[in-house]
Amino acid sequence: MHHSIGNSIKFSQITLQLEATRPSRFVLGTALAFERLDFITESIESSLNRFLFFYITQISKVKMKLNTKTKSLSKVQTHLVAECFNKLYIGGQFVDSIDGEKIPTYYPATGELLHELPRGKANDVEAAIVAAEAAWAEGAWAGMAAAERAEIVAKMAQGIEDNIEMLAEIEAADVGKPYRQAAMTLGGAAGEGKYWCSLGKVLDAEQDVPVNSGGGEGGVPPAEWDVVYRRDPIGVIGLISAWNYPMNVAFRKVAPALIAGNCAILKPSEIAGLSCMFIGKLAQDAGIPPGVFNVVTGDGEAGAALAASPSVSMIAFTGSTLTGSKIMGACAQKLSQVALELGGKSALVVFDDTDLDKAVETTMKGFLTNGGQICTAHTRLVVQESIKSPLLKRLKEELEKLPFCNDPITEKDRGDRIWEDGMTDVVQPVVCESQHKKILGFLYEAKAAGVEVLTGGGVPDEATVGNSGGYFIQPTVLINVERDADVWQKEVFGPVLSVRSFSTEDDAVLEANSTAFGLASTVMSSDPAKAMRVANRIRAGAVFATSTGEGLLAEHPAVSRGGFGFSGVGRELGIGGLHEYTELKSVNYSGFSIADAKKKHTG
Ligand code: NAD
Repeated sequence: MHHSIGNSIKFSQITLQLEATRPSRFVLGTALAFERLDFITESIESSLNRFLFFYITQISKVKMKLNTKTKSLSKVQTHLVAECFNKLYIGGQFVDSIDGEKIPTYYPATGELLHELPRGKANDVEAAIVAAEAAWAEGAWAGMAAAERAEIVAKMAQGIEDNIEMLAEIEAADVGKPYRQAAMTLGGAAGEGKYWCSLGKVLDAEQDVPVNSGGGEGGVPPAEWDVVYRRDPIGVIGLISAWNYPMNVAFRKVAPALIAGNCAILKPSEIAGLSCMFIGKLAQDAGIPPGVFNVVTGDGEAGAALAASPSVSMIAFTGSTLTGSKIMGACAQKLSQVALELGGKSALVVFDDTDLDKAVETTMKGFLTNGGQICTAHTRLVVQESIKSPLLKRLKEELEKLPFCNDPITEKDRGDRIWEDGMTDVVQPVVCESQHKKILGFLYEAKAAGVEVLTGGGVPDEATVGNSGGYFIQPTVLINVERDADVWQKEVFGPVLSVRSFSTEDDAVLEANSTAFGLASTVMSSDPAKAMRVANRIRAGAVFATSTGEGLLAEHPAVSRGGFGFSGVGRELGIGGLHEYTELKSVNYSGFSIADAKKKHTG
């Protein structure tokens, strides 16, 4: 695959240097990395320009046929008249944005207008920061015990659970995911919220803990020191979230940030963030004090204003690697904290001792769940040469049988094989027109560069989908992909799988580690020792070693996760995920003991 000047890739073990970000070093195998992060955008933009003519002439024909309004959509719109879906939530009140501008969002299955949400701008972000700063200065929230804060946040988690049906309809309409999947993952968000709340008392137990765990010679503080650790909240923090699992991504930040005692401003994604607007109402109903939690909807301008503000002491972000790098750059200017959950290009490594049916099932689940729009999507198949042909033959047959989900809002009763049996059963639309264009741009470029399409490769016809105007893409498998091809190196974020094969175990590891991302990966083998050896050599924050594929993409709130390299900085979930929202502080008492101090402090 060729690249334009300035887009060169180096085949060597090199230091990965992002502009304005920390260096990160590959330590295993011969690694392949990008020289500069802007390679990603430059290349996507050039693909898009070349692709635009094709897109306008082919796809817009479909859009012009759009006519009647989908019935299920009207029902969702009745939910969206509520105040919380039309205003910003600042200082405990629902308020209009200062400039009154709106952002339209569309139903991905048909391209019909779904809703218009407020386009919060830098001035609205500033108003939210002022409200949060006032709450922080007042100090009541940070002064409460974490367990007390957790009791209030638990009401918010309960509010998600109580409203799953409405929220699932909204997410189905906003993201284009089948209702039943939205309902299931929203249940997960509520459950995870309760887990966070259970950590309130754990955090309290970590306050004023003696520092005595140094270990080793000289590792223990001197006997005359009465020194303890505390975990303090950070201050006013910004939470910027992505659209693919809107409530899960956002509440995974909101709950720990608040339980840790911070004051927060949530900026959901403008592409599909409607369910996140409901968190403002949940906060108001739960009795979170005014200003402690705020929601400002808007696009990148609002996000950038939040990241750049000197009053904001941390940004917790989930989104693309490119935006994450910009946020880290903004935070570097003022030396504030970041927690970045970024993109992925996860590998599924399949050895020839794996059951073929399980391998096919796992491959499909890995790259098609949520339409391939999941950070941990396993979009690179690394298959042992000896089973490549039978596996690809079965995969093609199965993929070509899959129906398209032409009305995700009503997609309730088909029997969800993705989540129950580990198999995908429908193809959903991708989230919006710009993502649709971007994915088709990748496919257009790949084909132009000689990559072979095993199945899919474009837009399904209307008759196959059963309606018009939606952002559908055929499940696509690309074979004979070079290691430096864009479709191997970059996150496509759609239903596109790239395949390469290997002969030896060392080659399998090299292929798995051959991108700059490191979010997740899976090794499939019936040999536990081999699976363990390979899992231990894969550079990714979450690795599955399995003979069945069971548990692929599953998350448990108690298990921390995060990314190596381009996939992020910091860890989410687990007690470590809560600690991300705190600063570790030592307090050294002398002249009197901490026991005396506590006695006086508590009266
Ligand atoms: P994105 O980076 O385009 O946008 C994410 C958020 O950042 C949005 O709210 C957006 O408005 C905001 N934003 C845009 N420009 C900004 C700027 N300059 N400063 C501050 N904020 C800005 O990502 P997306 O398309 O919404 O989400 C998809 C990406 O998210 C994929 O790369 C996916 O892998 C990643 N993701 C990662 C995880 C994870 O846990 N690692 C989870 C879900 C999604």
